[in-house]
Amino acid sequence: MPPLRIAVIDNDPALLQAVEVELRSGGYQVLCLQEGTTAVEQLPVFKPQLIFLNASFPKIVGKILGERLRSVADLRQSKIVPFSAHVPGAARHAAAALDADDFLDSPCAPAAFLAKAQALLGGQVGVRFWGTRGSIAAPSAQTVRYGGNTSCVEILLPGHDELLVIDAGTGLRVLGNAKLAERKEWHGHIFISHTHWDHIQGLPFFTPWYLPGNSFTLVSTDQNELPLEKVIAGQMISAYFPVDFERLGADIAFKKLTEGDHTINRLRVETLLANHPNVTLMFKFHLAGRRIVYATDNELQWPNEKGVDPMAAHRARMVAFFRGADLLIHDAQYTDDEYRSKRGWGHSTWREALDIAIRSEVKQLVFFHHDPDHSDEMLDRISAECGEDLEKRGIKLPVCLAKEGEKVLLETSPHP
Ligand SMILES: [Zn+2]
Ligand SMILES: [Zn+2]
Repeated sequence: MPPLRIAVIDNDPALLQAVEVELRSGGYQVLCLQEGTTAVEQLPVFKPQLIFLNASFPKIVGKILGERLRSVADLRQSKIVPFSAHVPGAARHAAAALDADDFLDSPCAPAAFLAKAQALLGGQVGVRFWGTRGSIAAPSAQTVRYGGNTSCVEILLPGHDELLVIDAGTGLRVLGNAKLAERKEWHGHIFISHTHWDHIQGLPFFTPWYLPGNSFTLVSTDQNELPLEKVIAGQMISAYFPVDFERLGADIAFKKLTEGDHTINRLRVETLLANHPNVTLMFKFHLAGRRIVYATDNELQWPNEKGVDPMAAHRARMVAFFRGADLLIHDAQYTDDEYRSKRGWGHSTWREALDIAIRSEVKQLVFFHHDPDHSDEMLDRISAECGEDLEKRGIKLPVCLAKEGEKVLLETSPHP
């Protein structure tokens, strides 16, 4: 799905730039124009779904522009929203004159443009994969396409200026560098499913947390008798790492969760324990009306050959937790053959992940936590086998394998 397009027409370059930055953060493609007459030529090419138009253009220009825009077939569906940054009431009057869809009156900060766009067009929420690998980083010529970095996923929530990250495997290093290329100051929450190496090893290499003024909250759970903060700081003692945890420049806080329904930084997050050899949380994020479930390092463990099924009750709770999710990101580390010798290691086969996704009636499934020994070709084969299996069974469920650097975006509905 290509990004939705928005044009902004104004003569103030500073305001145009600020609004452009804000709208881009919402995942929109933006065209800024300074001249009403040029706009008439450029808009049919850009084909915006929404046009913000300065209401303080002389009325007649606004009216002519409005009429001409509406006479161009490609733009007849475009929503037109006059705005006024300085003159209260001007946008309301212009909206009436232009028969516009809405208006944005003074004072209108850049964030108001984003909120209005989301209200009229809807938007996108989703995830970006910075690390997709399980167990240990596996960079090689054979893992270029699906990626070699370990678990790290960024939540993409338009209008949310803080970082939202799930798991801090080696992918976190790449994420941190990319963010610092944008700006130095960052605040955010890093949700950690559990503290096995492949989920925390990126933390000491996460450059934003060496910078004073930044702040991050690690959201996770104690590891049985070991407090979370002790485990995190423990991987930075001198035997393992040259810089002590105490010397980090950013403010680091810890928030501990148990199973339940939580609100963290205005975000609703539900948690359920996974089936894994230590305490591991699965997260369900409620984002703009969409539900995204992150469930890695989770052994679904169907009944054994003798029909014994000690996981039945726990698995039923998982089905209820996953039920109807818009996106399920699930551990799919093994093939059936591999699982036979790795039962009890805390991971699922891709077939098990597929089956629970079908039973839970999720709308989209992503296989995650790829085995370090699985090459790109092998993962392609799994993808093809999965597609054939679904076709044979007549099931229409979009399934893909997580690829490092790629995003999965979900459309959100416009507000009523
Ligand atoms: Zn893992
Ligand atoms: Zn693990």
